[in-house]
Amino acid sequence: MSLANELVAEYDSVAHEAQTLTFLARASELQRDAIEKIDQFLPRLAECKRVAVQTSDEPAANTVLWMELALTGVRAELSMWLKLKGEDPEEAWDDLIGAQSRIEGACRVRRQLGQDATRFDNLLHKLLVVERALFPPQMFNSVGGIGRRECSICGGDYSECGHIVGRAYMGEMCHTVLRNLQVHEVSIVDNPANKRCRITHFSDSGMMRNKMTWRLEERCPEPPPGTNAGATLVRMSQDLSGDGTSDPELLTSSTDLT
Ligand SMILES: [Zn+2]
Repeated sequence: MSLANELVAEYDSVAHEAQTLTFLARASELQRDAIEKIDQFLPRLAECKRVAVQTSDEPAANTVLWMELALTGVRAELSMWLKLKGEDPEEAWDDLIGAQSRIEGACRVRRQLGQDATRFDNLLHKLLVVERALFPPQMFNSVGGIGRRECSICGGDYSECGHIVGRAYMGEMCHTVLRNLQVHEVSIVDNPANKRCRITHFSDSGMMRNKMTWRLEERCPEPPPGTNAGATLVRMSQDLSGDGTSDPELLTSSTDLT
């Protein structure tokens, strides 16, 4: 593995500065600056990964992958705090779930590389505590049906190709893409595969109650084309997310990403 020391040092610096600002009390303009610095650094990581892939240096490509996941995870957390301060809890929720899934992904890749992931685990647990402490309990949906699971690494049928979901291959995390899905059922579940797939409103007193803000709203947000506008609304997106248990003690543990 051959990553330039200069690049690793810059990652350490960007990650440390950003993490210093991942608190509600921090100044919003500094949080926005940290997001900008991450955005400026990510193309350098992408270029480094491109070179690693070109030279078939898989450990280097996967090292860049966990750095990308860690930085975009912290970026999502910073964005969450800004949106909470801006009274946009629904977007903040999506950022939180994005942060959890990216930090969980960084944990996986580091373990795959035989590297310690304790600090990343601690950060993931902190984000799970944030979920329970700052957001009301959510109701989630799970979709059941039949479809073809396409592998993101090779594009083949996942049941036949041999790649494993959640493992990194030459700087890319393996996941599956559902094709030609025939939906057979939609269930309400406590532990969904995707925590962005949640019930957002329900009927109350002739209006719609927002399950996040608890405001009664005259009109629902615009439903996606082809959906029943009168139905309970759910938000869905493609994202891998994990779940776990909260541990108050973790808030005193090191969550440093460097
Ligand atoms: Zn495959």
